[in-house]
Order: sequence, then C-alpha cells, then structure tokens
Amino acid sequence: MRLLVVEDEPRISKFICQGLTEAGYAVDATYDGLEAFEYALAADYDLIILDIMLPGLDGLSLLRRLRKNGIQTPVLLLTARDSLEDRVEGLDTGADDYLVKPFAFPELLARVRALLRRPPLQNENILRISDLELDNKTREVRRGGRLIELSQREFMLLNYLMRHPNQVLTRTQIAEHIWNFDFASDSNIVDVYIGYLRRKIDRNFTPQLIRTVRGMGYRISAEAGNE
Ligand code: CA
Repeated sequence: MRLLVVEDEPRISKFICQGLTEAGYAVDATYDGLEAFEYALAADYDLIILDIMLPGLDGLSLLRRLRKNGIQTPVLLLTARDSLEDRVEGLDTGADDYLVKPFAFPELLARVRALLRRPPLQNENILRISDLELDNKTREVRRGGRLIELSQREFMLLNYLMRHPNQVLTRTQIAEHIWNFDFASDSNIVDVYIGYLRRKIDRNFTPQLIRTVRGMGYRISAEAGNE
C-alpha cells in the first residue's frame, strides 16, 4: 500500500509519515500542492492524505484537479477545527473522509485502514441506502423518490452517516465531524440533530434507517438488527 502525504507543516508531516511507515505503509511526502499533483500523476497511490492550506496549490483545488483528471484515489482531508465550509466543500469536491486537526495518530491510522478497505466508488457523488439517496453534487436528498429539505448541518450529518453504512458512530465521532471540539463533550446536540434528521428521513417511511445503538451511538443501516 502506497500513500502520499501532502502537508506543508514539517512537524505534522514527519509525525504522520513516521507513524504510517512504522505501520508498514510505503509513504511519499510532499509539501507543495503543485508538486503533489505531479506525484499523483506519476504514481498509483492507494490513498492521499491532504492538507488544505498548502503552498503552490491549495488542497481543495488540488483535489478538484485530481478528480477532473480522472484520478479517483481516496483522499483523506486534514482540516482546521473551525473550517466547516472547507469540510463541506471538500466532501462535495470528492474527498472520501476528513480529519480535524489536531488529531491522535491512532485515529488517523483507523481512518486510513477504513479508506483502504473500501471498494472504489462507482460514483462518489451519490450515496444510497435502501431508498434513501444523497447527491453531493446537487445537494439533494430523496427518500422513495421524494425530495427532502435538509439544513446544512443535517445534510452533513446524513452525509457522514451514509459514508459509514452499517458502522456504529459514537456521539463524539459525530460531533467532531459535524461541529468542532467545543461541542464534542457533554452536549446533546448530536441527539438533537439525529432527532431532526429522523423526523425528515425516517418518520414517514419504512424501514427506519437511523438506528440508536444503546450506550454507543448511532448507525445507519437498511438491515434489520437488534439494538
Ligand atoms: Ca498547511
């Protein structure tokens, strides 16, 4: 497995590269967005870890350029904690996941493993579970063909759940993805938003897709299960 790390902060780049190398991955590093594009064209990477603020070409522009050139390598974006817009734009542009800085290495490693396990997406713009469909390009959500209006946060929350089908996501994981660290602990904001989402996508439909996993968190699934 060959990974490309695009990060201009030497300390963070070194931290990531060392850890990944120790975990057995072949790692290339570059500090510059334009150079990263050349690397991605030249080698067949299994995953790109991409910072957003970069010299040469910023991460989101680089991502756009990669996808435009047919390079579908999974991309894990590294974002600053307050950059909600970057995260939304990143996912819209075709990033597969993102991690908010600062992060612990084991979490990065877990995300890397998950992305490398995932089969290549046929169409990264449209996510589907049962009769629920989310289009990242048009930002439309449909259930049973019916258009459902979601707020930006609800859309992000649903997007995050649908990118991890059948997987239990803890409240902390969800909070850190959709909000920032300030919301991560002792807050019921995740439950509140799950409630909003359920009212819109589950209430008038069967099966119920958003499941509560007692004592753990939530998962989205079309499969029946005991929870
Ligand atoms: Ca940077």
